Amino acid sequence: MLRNRKVIILSHCILNQNSVVKPLSRSKGAYNDVVKLIVDSDIGILQLPCPELLFLGSRRPPMTKKQYNTTEYRTLCNSLLQNTMLQIKEYLGNNYNIIGIIGIEGSPTCGLLNNQGVLMEEFISLLKDEKIELPRFQIPTDYIEEKDNQSFLNLLKDFISNN
Ligand code: SF4
Repeated sequence: MLRNRKVIILSHCILNQNSVVKPLSRSKGAYNDVVKLIVDSDIGILQLPCPELLFLGSRRPPMTKKQYNTTEYRTLCNSLLQNTMLQIKEYLGNNYNIIGIIGIEGSPTCGLLNNQGVLMEEFISLLKDEKIELPRFQIPTDYIEEKDNQSFLNLLKDFISNN
Protein backbone atom coordinates (compact mmCIF):
# COMPACT_ATOMS: atom_id res chain seq x y z
CA MET A 1 0.00 0.00 0.00
CA LEU A 2 1.54 3.26 -1.09
CA ARG A 3 -0.24 5.72 1.15
CA ASN A 4 1.72 7.53 3.85
CA ARG A 5 -1.29 8.11 6.16
CA LYS A 6 -0.32 11.74 6.64
CA VAL A 7 -2.64 14.67 5.97
CA ILE A 8 -2.29 18.42 6.43
CA ILE A 9 -5.14 20.94 6.51
CA LEU A 10 -4.61 24.10 4.47
CA SER A 11 -6.52 27.35 4.15
CA HIS A 12 -8.22 27.32 0.77
CA CYS A 13 -6.19 30.11 -0.83
CA ILE A 14 -2.83 28.42 -0.24
CA LEU A 15 -3.92 26.20 -3.12
CA ASN A 16 -5.98 28.77 -4.98
CA GLN A 17 -5.11 32.46 -4.96
CA ASN A 18 -8.07 33.17 -7.23
CA SER A 19 -10.18 33.13 -4.08
CA VAL A 20 -8.50 36.09 -2.35
CA VAL A 21 -9.60 39.73 -2.34
CA LYS A 22 -8.46 41.03 -5.73
CA PRO A 23 -5.53 43.33 -4.88
CA LEU A 24 -4.21 40.94 -2.22
CA SER A 25 -3.25 37.87 -4.29
CA ARG A 26 0.37 36.82 -3.77
CA SER A 27 0.85 34.30 -6.57
CA LYS A 28 -0.71 33.48 -9.92
CA GLY A 29 -2.26 30.19 -8.82
CA ALA A 30 -1.14 28.43 -5.65
CA TYR A 31 1.62 29.15 -3.12
CA ASN A 32 3.84 26.85 -5.14
CA ASP A 33 6.80 26.73 -2.73
CA VAL A 34 4.53 25.74 0.15
CA VAL A 35 2.56 23.20 -1.85
CA LYS A 36 5.73 21.70 -3.38
CA LEU A 37 7.28 21.20 0.05
CA ILE A 38 4.14 19.43 1.29
CA VAL A 39 3.74 17.29 -1.83
CA ASP A 40 7.45 16.36 -1.82
CA SER A 41 7.01 15.26 1.81
CA ASP A 42 4.36 12.74 0.68
CA ILE A 43 1.64 14.43 2.70
CA GLY A 44 -1.96 14.53 1.51
CA ILE A 45 -3.81 17.86 1.53
CA LEU A 46 -7.23 18.62 2.95
CA GLN A 47 -8.31 22.05 1.66
CA LEU A 48 -10.53 24.19 3.87
CA PRO A 49 -13.39 26.16 2.25
CA CYS A 50 -13.06 29.88 1.47
CA PRO A 51 -16.08 31.39 3.23
CA GLU A 52 -15.35 34.96 2.13
CA LEU A 53 -15.65 33.95 -1.53
CA LEU A 54 -18.93 32.18 -0.87
CA PHE A 55 -20.30 35.00 1.32
CA LEU A 56 -19.47 38.11 -0.73
CA GLY A 57 -18.01 36.80 -3.99
CA SER A 58 -14.80 37.38 -5.91
CA ARG A 59 -15.31 41.16 -6.19
CA ARG A 60 -15.63 41.72 -2.44
CA PRO A 61 -13.67 44.61 -0.90
CA PRO A 62 -11.05 44.05 1.83
CA MET A 63 -12.87 43.92 5.19
CA THR A 64 -11.95 43.72 8.86
CA LYS A 65 -12.71 40.95 11.34
CA LYS A 66 -15.15 43.30 13.06
CA GLN A 67 -17.10 43.54 9.80
CA TYR A 68 -17.10 39.76 9.31
CA ASN A 69 -17.94 39.07 12.93
CA THR A 70 -21.69 38.57 12.41
CA THR A 71 -24.01 35.70 13.30
CA GLU A 72 -24.74 35.12 9.61
CA TYR A 73 -21.07 34.79 8.68
CA ARG A 74 -20.26 32.62 11.70
CA THR A 75 -23.16 30.32 10.83
CA LEU A 76 -21.86 30.00 7.27
CA CYS A 77 -18.32 29.21 8.50
CA ASN A 78 -19.65 26.67 10.97
CA SER A 79 -21.77 24.89 8.38
CA LEU A 80 -18.94 24.84 5.82
CA LEU A 81 -16.69 23.21 8.41
CA GLN A 82 -19.00 20.26 9.06
CA ASN A 83 -17.68 18.40 6.03
CA THR A 84 -14.08 19.00 7.15
CA MET A 85 -14.88 17.77 10.65
CA LEU A 86 -16.30 14.52 9.28
CA GLN A 87 -13.09 13.93 7.32
CA ILE A 88 -10.88 14.73 10.32
CA LYS A 89 -12.77 12.33 12.56
CA GLU A 90 -12.59 9.63 9.89
CA TYR A 91 -8.81 10.02 9.55
CA LEU A 92 -8.10 10.19 13.27
CA GLY A 93 -10.37 7.21 13.92
CA ASN A 94 -8.33 5.15 11.47
CA ASN A 95 -4.82 5.97 12.65
CA TYR A 96 -3.92 8.63 10.14
CA ASN A 97 -1.64 11.45 11.27
CA ILE A 98 -3.03 14.94 10.79
CA ILE A 99 0.13 17.05 10.75
CA GLY A 100 -1.71 20.27 11.58
CA ILE A 101 -3.56 23.27 10.20
CA ILE A 102 -2.00 26.08 8.17
CA GLY A 103 -3.85 29.40 8.21
CA ILE A 104 -3.19 32.87 6.85
CA GLU A 105 -1.69 35.51 9.14
CA GLY A 106 -3.67 38.75 9.14
CA SER A 107 -6.80 37.32 7.54
CA PRO A 108 -10.08 38.28 9.27
CA THR A 109 -11.27 34.78 8.42
CA CYS A 110 -8.22 32.48 8.35
CA GLY A 111 -5.78 34.09 10.80
CA LEU A 112 -4.77 31.21 13.08
CA LEU A 113 -2.05 32.02 15.61
CA ASN A 114 -2.41 35.61 16.72
CA ASN A 115 -5.66 37.47 15.95
CA GLN A 116 -7.65 34.42 14.98
CA GLY A 117 -10.10 34.88 12.12
CA VAL A 118 -13.78 33.95 12.22
CA LEU A 119 -13.46 30.63 10.35
CA MET A 120 -10.54 29.54 12.50
CA GLU A 121 -12.35 30.47 15.73
CA GLU A 122 -15.27 28.33 14.65
CA PHE A 123 -12.90 25.55 13.56
CA ILE A 124 -10.96 25.48 16.83
CA SER A 125 -14.22 25.46 18.77
CA LEU A 126 -15.59 22.50 16.73
CA LEU A 127 -12.30 20.65 17.27
CA LYS A 128 -12.45 21.37 21.00
CA ASP A 129 -15.99 19.94 21.16
CA GLU A 130 -14.52 16.69 19.80
CA LYS A 131 -11.47 16.93 22.11
CA ILE A 132 -9.19 17.20 19.10
CA GLU A 133 -6.09 19.37 19.27
CA LEU A 134 -4.04 19.94 16.12
CA PRO A 135 -0.73 21.80 15.71
CA ARG A 136 -1.11 25.23 14.09
CA PHE A 137 1.00 27.21 11.67
CA GLN A 138 0.35 30.12 9.33
CA ILE A 139 1.57 31.81 6.17
CA PRO A 140 3.15 35.14 7.18
CA THR A 141 1.88 38.43 5.77
CA ASP A 142 5.15 39.00 3.90
CA TYR A 143 5.05 35.69 2.00
CA ILE A 144 4.90 36.35 -1.72
CA GLU A 145 5.62 33.93 -4.54
CA GLU A 146 8.79 34.59 -6.53
CA LYS A 147 10.61 36.21 -3.61
CA ASP A 148 13.13 34.34 -1.47
CA ASN A 149 10.96 32.50 1.05
CA GLN A 150 13.67 30.14 2.25
CA SER A 151 13.69 31.10 5.92
CA PHE A 152 9.92 30.65 6.12
CA LEU A 153 10.13 27.37 4.20
CA ASN A 154 12.70 26.10 6.72
CA LEU A 155 10.23 26.83 9.52
CA LEU A 156 7.52 25.02 7.58
CA LYS A 157 9.85 22.07 7.05
CA ASP A 158 10.44 21.92 10.83
CA PHE A 159 6.71 22.15 11.49
CA ILE A 160 6.06 19.24 9.14
CA SER A 161 8.82 17.03 10.47
CA ASN A 162 8.00 17.72 14.14
CA ASN A 163 4.34 16.77 13.85
S1 SF4 B 1 -11.14 33.67 3.49
FE1 SF4 B 1 -9.36 32.43 4.00
S2 SF4 B 1 -9.18 31.05 2.29
FE2 SF4 B 1 -10.48 32.72 1.63
S3 SF4 B 1 -9.08 34.17 0.69
FE3 SF4 B 1 -9.32 34.78 2.80
S4 SF4 B 1 -7.62 33.82 3.85
FE4 SF4 B 1 -7.84 32.79 1.92
